[in-house]
Order: sequence, then structure tokens, then C-alpha cells
Amino acid sequence: MKADRIHNFNAGPAALPLPVLEEIQESFLNFAGSGMSVTEISHRSTWFDDVINDAVARVKRILKLDDRYHVLFLQGGASMQFCMVPMNLLGTGDSADYVNTGTWSTKAIKEATIQGKSINVAASSEDRNFSYIPQSIVFDADAVYAHITSNNTIKGTQWAQFPETGGVPIVSDMSSDIFSRQLEMDRFGLIYAGAQKNMGPAGVCLVVIRDDLLARTPGQIPTMLRYTTYAEKNSMYNTPPCFAIYTVQLVLKWLEETIGGLDKMAALNGKKAGLLYDTIDRSGFYKGTAEKASRSLMNVTFRLPNEDLEKTFVAEAMKNGMGGLKGHRSVGGCRASIYNPTPLAAVEALVDFMKMFEGKHG
Ligand SMILES: *Cc1c(COP(=O)(O)O)cnc(C)c1O
Repeated sequence: MKADRIHNFNAGPAALPLPVLEEIQESFLNFAGSGMSVTEISHRSTWFDDVINDAVARVKRILKLDDRYHVLFLQGGASMQFCMVPMNLLGTGDSADYVNTGTWSTKAIKEATIQGKSINVAASSEDRNFSYIPQSIVFDADAVYAHITSNNTIKGTQWAQFPETGGVPIVSDMSSDIFSRQLEMDRFGLIYAGAQKNMGPAGVCLVVIRDDLLARTPGQIPTMLRYTTYAEKNSMYNTPPCFAIYTVQLVLKWLEETIGGLDKMAALNGKKAGLLYDTIDRSGFYKGTAEKASRSLMNVTFRLPNEDLEKTFVAEAMKNGMGGLKGHRSVGGCRASIYNPTPLAAVEALVDFMKMFEGKHG
């Protein structure tokens, strides 16, 4: 029942806007007058054409993309992109720079290395347990691309400004902060994002790729792993994940029409994160794990004085209708993921709970 829904701070899959869930529920048995569910119609029907074309148009509008950029919907999650990016963009004699800022960057580097591609780790924050974003990085002017992870979901760090690469196109994994703020798209050759954090359900990955990088795709790699296959067929070479794309369409519509666009979204995200970091900084009880200048506005990671208290905190929060606050299993601690769909009221409730908990146990 709707009244039993909790404040959801899951890291991914994560909260979706309630109006989107309600619209899905309402139209589920009879989509757009088709007499069928959106999960039952052909992806070759005009009903689905309207869905995917509207989703693509919204991505282009929200990110202010010019005609050089192509919007693709793929499967295999962001993890598939760790493999496809070097496979499509790096030929013999080419090399790319990678910045290692945590678990996901490490995996991206691994997938390029497995394929025997020539890559250079231009900077890493592993020396301080990935608690910060490296600055003043010197990139190779001949690199085909410079790969970064714009928001580090597990460690709770985020690039506040994107690095100066001297004209080398940035390729960014934006799985956990896509559509959370304005981007200067000119600096990016390719961005990708698994949908399940900031824009939809699991099962679809958004890729935005520029012409010059698309032109690098070699003909002799498997059809399903080639970006051109998706670019040439409007992401419908084979059956796309229709339901996931439909949900993304509705989330983007919500972002444009209910929130009022990226500037409004970014302001709201700043406000939500500010409330939580203020609470952490004003207490001697909670301790943020990311260095201040590198803090993520999407994933707020923090510790309590000891692990027993952290367990109690997560359990008591749940009793108070707040879920998903346990840190990633690889790092422990606590994490509040506050992506676009998380309402301000959820963050306010969490802040009240944190103060109450500190009063009781601090
Ligand atoms: C969750 C996440 C991934 C992995 O996404 P999948 O869609 O599960 O492959 C990759 N990168 C970042 C930054 C993430 O947050």
C-alpha cells in the first residue's frame, strides 16, 4: 500500500519518483489506448516508437546535445561499457588515459587491460583509500580519450569540476550522477550510465556518443558490441529493454515537467546534500568518509563511533521508515544515496532521525 512506502536511500536500484510509479501503475493494463500492457506491445509498433523517440528527444534536450551526439540505449549495464568503450575506441597503436577513483574505475581499467589495450593510469586516489578526487592531472595529449568516473557511488566522492584534458575527449561513467547537474557536453566524447541509480529501473544503459568517436568503431567486432549497430537502428537492432526505456522516458518527463529541468534539479540536489553534510559536520558523532572538497551530492557516506552503533543505526532507521542506509559491503559504515528522485522530505526525515539517534547514543 502506498501509505506503507518507506523513505528509500538505496544505492541502486534506487528510489523512483512516486508520480512515475503511479503513472506506470495506471497505464499498465492498457498502454496508450493499445488495449495491451507496455510490456506486451511490439517494439516495432508506433506505440513503442513514440516512447523511444520521446526518450531520445528528452535526453537531447536536457543535455543540450547538438547533432554530433547520438543517444543509445543498450543492455549489459554500465559494466558492459567498461568492456565496450576500449573495444570500440582503441585500435592498434592507440592508447587512453584512465583516472582511478574507486571500485568502478578499477573495474573499467581491468576490462581494458584484459583486452590487451594500451592504457595509462594518469592519476589515482588509492593512496588515501579513494577518499578524494585527484587534481592537476597531466593527461597524454595523444590519448584517444580520458576515462573518469564522475561520481563514485561506493566511496561517496564526485568530480565537482571536470579535469582539464587539453582537448582530449572525456569518457565518463555517469551511472550515479547523470542528469543531476548541467554538463559542458563539448568536453565529453562519450558518457554512459546504468539507469538504476538516477533515471530508471535496472536493465538499460544510456550511452551518449559523439560522431568522431563513433567513427572509430571497427567493423570486425561482434555486432552486438558495436556502437554503430545501435546508432544506425535507433537502439532497435534487436529487441530493446522496452519497459526500462519506457520508465526512463517517464523519469525524464518528470525531470523536465515536474521538477522544471536540470538547474532546478541541481539546486534541489545541493540542498539535500547540504542538509546531510551540515548534520554530519556539526556533530562529533557522525564522521564523513570523503574529503570535503570531493564530497558527492549523490552518495553521502559516513561512519559512527563504532560498528555496533552503525548496525543499531541502520536497524533503528528501518524501524522509523528509512531504508537502504547500510554502506557498501566492501567499505562498511553508512551511506545515504540521495539521487534525483529522493524528495527533500525524505532527507529532512533522515536528518531528524540522525539528531535523535545522536542524542540517544552520543
Ligand atoms: C552501479 C555502478 C556501476 C555498475 O552498474 P551496472 O549497471 O550494475 O553494471 C558502474 N559504475 C558506477 C559509477 C556505478 O555506480
